[in-house]
Amino acid sequence: MQIGILALQGDFIEHQHILERLGVRTRQVRLPAHLEGLDGLIIPGGESTTIGKLAADFGLMEPLRTFALTHAVWGTCAGAIFLSKDARRPQPLLGLMDIQVQRNAFGRQVESFEIDLDVPALRQVEEEVRPFRAVFIRAPLIERVGPGVEILATLPDGRIVAARQGHWLATAFHPELTDDTRFHRFFLKIAEEVATLDLDVPLSR
Ligand code: GLN
Repeated sequence: MQIGILALQGDFIEHQHILERLGVRTRQVRLPAHLEGLDGLIIPGGESTTIGKLAADFGLMEPLRTFALTHAVWGTCAGAIFLSKDARRPQPLLGLMDIQVQRNAFGRQVESFEIDLDVPALRQVEEEVRPFRAVFIRAPLIERVGPGVEILATLPDGRIVAARQGHWLATAFHPELTDDTRFHRFFLKIAEEVATLDLDVPLSR
């Protein structure tokens, strides 16, 4: 397995460190050629407008979309926005996941917070049931999900903060900023599943 991390802007290094801790080979992706041979891609948190603008400038938009059709992709925070079909304002988006997001839904940087979330899907990587400590930094909300999208986690009031659509994953929060590696292992499991399918046709669009 080798997993790429989109390294245009944001906290890509934190994702890389967690993957390395898990013994996974990694590669920073800045150009289309860097996607070659990867088994999955993580799009980090940061500023989604900046990530989108740089991705467009580096000719990455179409290569990323093509890669995503046959590989696992996970967006955290700004990365989740970039993965979405709809951010309710004009900005470059990959437009892959059938989710509508609201940017900065919790206010400004000072309103950042941490909360324990119940994420039943993580039992697929670890039997012990314990909450996931989720770090929200100027985070988006997932306001609406399409029919093919599975909700993985909500806040206590029911608002959606993590979702999965087939081999695509979106989290409004930052698992790369905690010591808990379960979300990364969950993503690796999805990437492994996709890799063993040996696809020559796209899974979904
Ligand atoms: N507020 C940022 C955006 O809209 C996301 C913040 C983050 O990734 N921590 O792009």
